Amino acid sequence: MSLQESARNLIRELNESAPYLSYAARFASFKGFRYDKKHIAACSSDALSHAGFYSTATKNNPTSAKCPFCTLELTFAENDDPWELHKAARPNCDYVVIGRPDDTTLSLRTIVSLALRCATVAKYEKMFMMFKVCEEYNPRIHSTAIRAQATAEAISLRDSTMLLTADHRLKTFDYTVRGFRKPTPSILKRLSKAGWCSAATNCSHLSVKCPFCFSAVTFSETDDFWEEHKRISPDCDFVKLDKPNEADWTADEGLMLAVRISVMNQYKTKQKILDQLEDDEEVEKLTEQLSRMMAKPRFLRRRCSV
Ligand SMILES: [Zn+2]
Ligand SMILES: [Zn+2]
Repeated sequence: MSLQESARNLIRELNESAPYLSYAARFASFKGFRYDKKHIAACSSDALSHAGFYSTATKNNPTSAKCPFCTLELTFAENDDPWELHKAARPNCDYVVIGRPDDTTLSLRTIVSLALRCATVAKYEKMFMMFKVCEEYNPRIHSTAIRAQATAEAISLRDSTMLLTADHRLKTFDYTVRGFRKPTPSILKRLSKAGWCSAATNCSHLSVKCPFCFSAVTFSETDDFWEEHKRISPDCDFVKLDKPNEADWTADEGLMLAVRISVMNQYKTKQKILDQLEDDEEVEKLTEQLSRMMAKPRFLRRRCSV
């Protein structure tokens, strides 16, 4: 398989696990949107999609919409400006931070990072439902098949996210095999608490990596491991949460971090394709194509139903 084919496969897979990543997918979700029928309404399906929202309309709440990058869900009024509301409510949302993509070409890394965010949120919402089924199982409402699926998904998430806790990260620092001088227990504890697990090589015994952001670094014993994590990778989810002590996490925060590790692991090998692509001249074409997918089209065709 050529590099371009691998890259296209990667994008297709990201798109599948990151629904509503593209403008078109979000726009399509607003079929027959109430405010589109009023031509002067500021809050059109186009404005909503461009501001990052997809429709979560129900019979009782026909103008609700949600951001697939930060889970912000609002009920919109006719003259609301969706972009201004998004910015005000969630200034740190990944989509808000890049600004509404228009004709500007986003970098491949930006697009993949948005896709990973979208995939993380989608998986979080799925797992949230699954845990709910596990906790509130009621044979009159849930089928046994759903319960079995929920249990299987919960176990699989637990198994793929062992490095979520500092204790498990601490266990990765196994120096018996390599014959290194073992760092003191307090150093290893500080490392694992700061989010790092071992990536020790033959050259360095304090080589570490972060399971949440895949940053890798080699420390010296006197470094401040948490401050360095913040400096090297300010966008890491573990760093952004800013609660190195697990006891401080809410259940939602813990689930979101667990899901993040699982999504990052899923794309670990594929990240290598991206690294290779950076040196490839075909990358421009691919990036342009992807940027178009993310941006609002220059000529927007209103649907017949409007
Ligand atoms: Zn958002
Ligand atoms: Zn990190």
